[in-house]
Amino acid sequence: MKNDLVVVTGAGGFIGGSLVAEMRAKGFQRIRAIDIKPFDDWYQRFENVENLSLDLNLKENCEVAARGAGEIYNLAANMGGMGFIEQNKALCMLSVLINTQMLQASVKHGVRRYFYSSSACVYNAEKQKTYEAPSLKEEDAYPAMAEDGYGWEKLFSERMCRHFREDFGLETRVARFHNVYGPWGTWYGGREKAPAAICRKVIEAKVSGKHEIEIWGPGNQTRSFMFIDDCLKGIDLIMRSEILEPINLGSSEAVTVNQLVDIVEEIAGIKLKRNYDLSAPKGVNGRNSDNTLIRKNLNWEPDTSLRAGMEKTYRWIYDQYLARERGEAGVVRESNAGR
Ligand code: NAD
Repeated sequence: MKNDLVVVTGAGGFIGGSLVAEMRAKGFQRIRAIDIKPFDDWYQRFENVENLSLDLNLKENCEVAARGAGEIYNLAANMGGMGFIEQNKALCMLSVLINTQMLQASVKHGVRRYFYSSSACVYNAEKQKTYEAPSLKEEDAYPAMAEDGYGWEKLFSERMCRHFREDFGLETRVARFHNVYGPWGTWYGGREKAPAAICRKVIEAKVSGKHEIEIWGPGNQTRSFMFIDDCLKGIDLIMRSEILEPINLGSSEAVTVNQLVDIVEEIAGIKLKRNYDLSAPKGVNGRNSDNTLIRKNLNWEPDTSLRAGMEKTYRWIYDQYLARERGEAGVVRESNAGR
């Protein structure tokens, strides 16, 4: 299959860009990478890849994207951390256009298999009220009471994937990602998620000598965080599997936000005074990934320890931070050099 045309949407972003890198490394010869952003804003961009800057809200662009494709990985969406999704509900819901039109174009162009990146934000809010990190099973998405805006769009799009499979025979696969983090992710600007935001804040404190950190919420909210390498492995395994219904793809190593800060402080070799902003967006109180289904079906679950993943992420953000301070665009991969 390595000569098949593989399409990655959202390829200018974190997971999409990392997926393109991974596929190149695996020897895929024909990759089409698409993102709405102008090329200079892509986090990673590679030679020998068909890079297209297209708005996939538009049907005609989805046709261009799907033409000739064997497999499509749809990772394009408007998204960000809680600060972004709580304040941009309409924008998040508009991503429904991307998935709906990509599905239609995929059927029209005879695409063999289609991957959709859903989210733990589909889960019923009632089941996430406790701080004790409730493990969410796939069935806990129903009765539906998803995260307003972003989560409802994901839930609706999951169902579109199911019905396109049932009614039109398109082989769809859907994973519910739980908080992905790692090098090449968004780390400033308002769309960053907790792991990257905390790394950046700790670095700022270290560099400035002002040993304080602002934490959103009371600090005892629980979450699990999946390292990017596990996410990429999971996408591949799920795409090749016969798992037809949406499945959790997340780490089951739940921590509080305070514990996440402890880890980053330890990596940075610093202790900070913590100031809690209780009025900041903080999302649900507790959430963890129940991995029973993925373990049963794939004999695997995301297993990079948070400490190990955060170490790599911190180092990467540190380099980016210093490069930015020097007025440079940032650290780029060697394979980006020719862009
Ligand atoms: P990201 O924001 O880094 O990447 C998404 C990319 O989609 C961006 O580069 C954006 O420019 C692009 N995009 C948005 N609208 C577009 C359009 N109309 N046409 C073409 N491209 C468009 O986010 P990410 O973290 O890489 O997330 C990838 C996917 O995984 C998204 O669907 C997201 O909802 C999902 N997801 C991510 C996480 C996470 O923790 N990162 C968790 C759950 C689900």
